[in-house]
Amino acid sequence: MGSLKEKRAFICDMDGVLYHGSRLLGGSREFVDWLKDQDKQYLFLTNSSSRTPGELSEKLAGMGIEVEPEHFMTSGIATAGFLSTQKPGGSAYVIGDNGIRQALLNSGFHLTDQSPDYVVVGETVSYNYPQLEKAINLVLGGAKLIGTNPDVSGPVEEGIGPACRALIAPIEMAAGRQAYFIGKPNPLIMRQSLKRIGCRRAETVIIGDRMDTDIIAGIESEIETVLVLSGITKEKDIDRFPYRPTYVLNGVGDIAGLA
Ligand SMILES: [Mg+2]
Repeated sequence: MGSLKEKRAFICDMDGVLYHGSRLLGGSREFVDWLKDQDKQYLFLTNSSSRTPGELSEKLAGMGIEVEPEHFMTSGIATAGFLSTQKPGGSAYVIGDNGIRQALLNSGFHLTDQSPDYVVVGETVSYNYPQLEKAINLVLGGAKLIGTNPDVSGPVEEGIGPACRALIAPIEMAAGRQAYFIGKPNPLIMRQSLKRIGCRRAETVIIGDRMDTDIIAGIESEIETVLVLSGITKEKDIDRFPYRPTYVLNGVGDIAGLA
């Protein structure tokens, strides 16, 4: 299996790993520099579908870390990838931000509220009642209901905000249909990530701060995992889960210093 440092590819969560909201975590810059110096393959993976890879690249640049857009995978991109294999050239009504919209357009989908193949829900702060009513009736009319990720909530400036699963719940309840979710821990997003970096599972590791999304995503895809204690899951919480990570570190900054 070799040591963690010798892995060829690193698939790394962002919030709670590289930064908290708009605050860079210690060791992040050193970790990214190390990935580049060592010629590693790397992908920053986020379950949020709000931002495009270009916007994520700008966000990191604003915190002093240079990462090109091709090094980002989002649940929006994974959703678009999945739907374009299910229904090439299909159509969707979207409740969500730029990230999911651009990903669908780049995958050859068109966006419409007239008899779409899918209703796709991601995260957006412009969520409103008319959108819900539209989505419910499109689903009742035969559109398939897709969520970009199964997160219930996520960090916002003032505390916690609703994420995809909370936003899609009213549509599920009113239409009486269950949505299908693409982001972590669905192995679909891990398979798409491996394909993007051209690496095998055995030479790859997934890094994240949450046992219930990042670590389970690695386990269900049979990829070794690193839990970092810089985010949601604390050391005392680990034993509450019926599975364990391969490695536990305080933060990503520790990886370069490992023996
Ligand atoms: Mg995280």
